[in-house]
Order: sequence, then structure tokens, then C-alpha cells
Amino acid sequence: SKQNKTILITGGAGFIGSNFIPYFLEKYPSYNIVNLDVLTYAGDLSNLGEIEGLTRYKFIKGDICNRELVEFIFSEYDIRGVIHFAAESHVDNSIKNPGVFIETNVNGTFTLLDAAYKYWMEKPFYVKTGYQGCRFHHISTDEVYGTLGQTGLFREDTPYAPNSPYSASKASSDMIVRSYHETYGMDTVITNCSNNYGPKQHDEKLIPTIIRNALNGTAIPIYGDGQNIRDWLYVLDHCNGIDLAYHNGRSGESYNIGGRNERTNLQIVDKVCSLLDQKVPREKRYKDLLMMVEDRAGHDRRYAIDASKIEKELGWKADENFESGIEKTVEWYLEKYIVR
Ligand code: NAD
Repeated sequence: SKQNKTILITGGAGFIGSNFIPYFLEKYPSYNIVNLDVLTYAGDLSNLGEIEGLTRYKFIKGDICNRELVEFIFSEYDIRGVIHFAAESHVDNSIKNPGVFIETNVNGTFTLLDAAYKYWMEKPFYVKTGYQGCRFHHISTDEVYGTLGQTGLFREDTPYAPNSPYSASKASSDMIVRSYHETYGMDTVITNCSNNYGPKQHDEKLIPTIIRNALNGTAIPIYGDGQNIRDWLYVLDHCNGIDLAYHNGRSGESYNIGGRNERTNLQIVDKVCSLLDQKVPREKRYKDLLMMVEDRAGHDRRYAIDASKIEKELGWKADENFESGIEKTVEWYLEKYIVR
């Protein structure tokens, strides 16, 4: 598979990346993938067990901030595209320890982007193809837009107003990517997605925590009054949106991805607990384990996405509705927490 085009994926051992890589390898038999991941606490290679040993896939353990390593990877594998997932991603951690978020999300993105640009711009193929075909796709979040009131939706032209060190670091990285398009004409695209849920998410996140604590019979913690609203998207619907934007998105553009599935945190707990009541019945209802805890500092009240740009321009549409997606998700975690 030497003639295959090789794409560098960063953070592929994390939640979204480990759903994306198997999907992408199967859909595009003519791509090779190099996965660069430093394996922080959030990275888990067992999430990629299904593709281990595949010749079109190569894992490299390393840091996106390591310029020398990143340059080596570009030339060694003749990288012709980047899909950049690697990040520190947990808002609570960013409140306790913001430094590493600036390092990975800001400096790491810059390091990758600048190495990609320098590698590609010297190559005749880059100029010949009008820069197309060597694309830097940056994966970002709707949290860059800040918080919404009861109404309204985030659009691509909504001003950035990040409120947490996490969202501020993502907003910064989006701006740096934007500048490489505006200044150097680099072929970039950015997708800003709402809250993902699905298989392979780290235990620390809301839905896995609800399921694990419920099964252990320990308290299910919910921040504040539980009325914070998030727009939930099944992870493979996000992957499909990334695929469309990577291949067909217009250079220099950003695209919002979201499922119009607004739920309060309490509604999420209700739904997951009632699925557990059906699937793993016990004497008391799981919901009785609910415990309100002090609100997260700077907690954004509501996020919701207007995805009409990616729907109209690229024909994106979510396959899963919330009911079907959450059922698949609960089943996956039951398998993880009970059977394994
Ligand atoms: P995750 O925390 O599950 O995975 C992040 C991965 O990046 C891990 O495997 C980790 O080891 C790796 N990583 C961290 N620092 C690194 C470094 N310095 N060098 C190399 N690898 C490093 O995150 P996720 O939920 O899969 O999110 C992936 C991307 O999608 C992030 O950029 C995040 O901002 C974005 N995003 C996530 C969501 C969501 O709901 N999870 C929504 C929108 C956007």
C-alpha cells in the first residue's frame, strides 16, 4: 500500500479519535493512517483493538508538542493530510490545572500546523494541486462560543466568548488555524461540534459516570440544579460530519456540527437510569442515587448548535436520534462494566 495517501491523525486513542479511525479505515481502503498519541490518562489503545496489526495503520506514541518528532513523521510517512483530535478535553481538569491545556491545545496545535505547512509548502505537489489535497482539519468544540440564554443557537458567525480555560485554549487554537489560511493560504478546515456521547468515552465523563455509579450503587453526582443544557450528538454522527468536511468542506471555512438534541443534565440522568431499570433491574430505582453537588465554576448554562451550514453545503445529517443512540451507548457500557 505504498501508493496510498497517508493521513496523520492525532489523539486517535481518545474517545472520538478511536471511533473515527476504524470508521475511516474501513470507508477509505486507499488511505493509510498514522496515529500520533502520547497516551495521557485519556488515551486507551484497547479502544483500537479492532484494527491492531492492520498494515494500513501505524501507531506512534508521542507528543504533538515535540517538533522534532512531528517533522520526522511528516517526512518519514510523506503525510498528505492531518485530522487533529489530540487535546486535553475535560473542563473540570482545566479548572484545576489549566497549564497543560495551553501547552497541548495551543502550543501543540501550533507545532503541528506549522510543521505541516513547512513540510507541504516546499513540495511541488502542494503547489500543483493548488494546495488542495493537503488539508489540515482541526477538530474543535461549540464551547468556544460561550453560553446561550433560553433561546438562540450557535452559528459559525457567532462571536467567540470562551468561559473556561478549556474552551479558551480551543478558541485560541481555532484562531491560529484560521490565521494560517488567511496569511499563507494553507488549506484548513475547522469543525466545531457539540457534546458527543457513545462508546469508548472516558470514565470521567457524565454518561459513563452515571452508568458506573448506578451499577455500583454509589451516588450519581449532578452539578448545581441539573438544568444545564447540552446539545448531544452520537459520536459516529460526528465522525461522519468530520469525513464530509475533510473531503468536501471549503478551504478556510468552519462548520458547526450538532444534532438538535438539547437535554438538561437531569434529563440525561433520567433517561440513562430508566434504561438501566429495564436492562439491569434492581429493587430500588437507579434514579434514587441522584445527588446534587456544588456547581462547576463558570458553568455554561446552555449550548445549542445551528448545523444548517454543514447540512446544506455538505449534505450532513445525523443517523441516530437520541433514543437510539443512548440505547446503544448504555449497552456498550453495560458490556464494559459488567461483562469485562
Ligand atoms: P479525549 O480526551 O478522549 O482524547 C484526547 C486524546 O488526545 C487522548 O488519546 C490523549 O492521549 C491524546 N493527547 C492529549 N494530549 C496529547 C499530546 N500532547 N500529544 C499527543 N496526544 C495527546 O478527547 P475527545 O473527547 O476524543 O476529543 C477529541 C477532540 O474533539 C478534542 O480536540 C476535543 O476538543 C474535541 N471535541 C470533543 C467533544 C466531546 O464531546 N468529547 C466535542 C467537541 C469537540
